[in-house]
Amino acid sequence: MEQLSVEQIAEWTQGRIIGGKGSAMVGSISTDSRTVKEGDCFVALKGEKYDGLDYVASAAQKGAVAAIVDRELPLSMPLSIPVIRVNNTLEALQQLAFFYRKKLPAKIVAITGSNGKTSTKEMISSVLRVKYKTVSTSGNLNNQIGLPLSVLQMDHTTEYGVFELGTNHRGEIASLSRIVAPDIAIITNIGSAHVGNFGSVEAIGWEKTDLLTFVSPKGFSILMEDDEWSKRLSVRSAGQVIWVGNQENSLCWLDQIWLTLKGIRCGISRHGESFEVSLATVSREMAKNALFAAAVGFLVSLSSEEIAFGLEKTVFPLGRLTVHPIRMGYLIDDSYNANLQSAMSALRTLIEFPFESEKIAVLGSMGELGEHAKALHYKLGRFAGSLPLSFIIFIGPHWEDMVEGVKDVGFPLNAVLGTEDPQAAYSQLQKLLNRKLTLLIKGSRFLKLDRIVEKLLSV
Ligand code: ATP
Ligand code: MG
Repeated sequence: MEQLSVEQIAEWTQGRIIGGKGSAMVGSISTDSRTVKEGDCFVALKGEKYDGLDYVASAAQKGAVAAIVDRELPLSMPLSIPVIRVNNTLEALQQLAFFYRKKLPAKIVAITGSNGKTSTKEMISSVLRVKYKTVSTSGNLNNQIGLPLSVLQMDHTTEYGVFELGTNHRGEIASLSRIVAPDIAIITNIGSAHVGNFGSVEAIGWEKTDLLTFVSPKGFSILMEDDEWSKRLSVRSAGQVIWVGNQENSLCWLDQIWLTLKGIRCGISRHGESFEVSLATVSREMAKNALFAAAVGFLVSLSSEEIAFGLEKTVFPLGRLTVHPIRMGYLIDDSYNANLQSAMSALRTLIEFPFESEKIAVLGSMGELGEHAKALHYKLGRFAGSLPLSFIIFIGPHWEDMVEGVKDVGFPLNAVLGTEDPQAAYSQLQKLLNRKLTLLIKGSRFLKLDRIVEKLLSV
C-alpha cells in the first residue's frame, strides 16, 4: 500500500481522530491483531466470534500506529496511538478502499460468477504478469472484508489489479463493484450456487450482473456466449460487451481440447489466428475459463505467444482437478468440493485420463443436499459403478447410499469399500498403491479429503 496519513484516512472514512497525531503515517491496513506489523492501521471489526475492539491495545503493542473503531474503547485501555472513530468499521474499510482505488492509476479487472472465479483470476493475473505489474486477490479473499484488503495491496506502480468478487446475499456484488470500479468485468457463469439465499437462478443473474453496471463506459464486460443468464442480462453493461466461446460472435473460442498426462491442452482461436496452450489441470471447464484470460490479453495488446506463456505458467489453486505424479502413476486431486455434476465430470476425466493403468476412485459424500441427499448419492453410486474402475472407495455419511447404487448396476462388491472413517480409506489406499494406477480423490469440503491427498503426496 502507498503510505497514507491518519488525517487522510479519517477524511475518507468520515471519522473523528481521538488523541495522537493526525500527521502520523500508516504503511498498511490490518484487520487481524495477530498479524499486525509496525506501521499498520488496525481496523477493529466485529465478527461472530471475536470483537476487534478488544484487540486494539494488543495491536498498538505490536506496532500499529493507528486504529479505526466504531464504539467507545474500554476505559481500561490506554490510548497510546491515534484512534479514528467512525460509525461502522466495515463500511470505513470499504470507503478507504474506494477512495484509495480512485487515487491510483491501475486498471482493474473484476471477476464474479458461480464457478471458477479463483481459477480464472489466477489465469488472468498470470497472463497480465507476462508484461505488466499486476496485483491480484490472494487466495479466495473475495468478500466484503477480503476485497477491500486486496485493493489496498496495490500501489502507484501497479498497472493492473485483478480481483475476485463473491456473494452470498443480494446487494453484495454491487457494494464490491462500487469499490473496484472495473475497467474490465468478467462473469464466468451464472448457476445455482447459493440458490437457497437468492430464491432463483434469475435472482442470482441479477446479483452477478450488478457488476456490469459499474464498468467504466470506456471499459469492457467479457461474458461466456453459452451462458443463458449472461446473455439475457448483458444489456445491463455500462461498457462494451465482448463475448467469448463461439466462432460466430466471439472474440475467441476453443477449437480443440484434449487431455494429456500433465493436464489440458487446447487450441484457442480468434479470427485470423489460432494457437495452442497447456493448462496444469485436467478440468475441461478450465479451458473455457482460459478464454477470459485470452480475451483480457488481447484487449491489453498481448500477443498470442505472450498469452499462451502466461496461461502455461498459471498455478491453479490446489484441489481443483490438479494432477500429481505419484509412485506408480498419477493422482488427480479434486478434493476442494463436490456436487453431483462435478463428481460425474471428475469421474469421466479419470476414465479419459491417458495413462494406461487401473483407474481407482475415492468419492466423498456431497454436502448441503438436504432431502435430496439419499437419491443423489445413490445416483452417483450407480454412475461410478457403470464405469471401468478397478476399485471404488466411498467415504462419509452417505457411503451406504453410494454402495447401494454400485451394487444395483452389478459392480463387484469385493472391489468396493464404504466407510465413514478417512483413516480406514487411507489404509485401503496404501494397499492399492503398489499397482500402476490413476487415482481420483473427490469430495465435499467438510470431509477434508485434502488431508489424504497431502499424505499420499508425502509418501
Ligand atoms: P468459490 O465460490 O469457492 O470462491 P470459485 O468460483 O472461486 O469458488 P474455483 O475455486 O476456481 O471457483 O473452482 C471451484 C470449482 O468449480 C472447481 O472444482 C472447478 O473445476 C469448478 N469450475 C471452474 N470453472 C467452472 C466452470 N466454468 N463451470 C463449471 N465448473 C467450474
Ligand atoms: Mg474462489
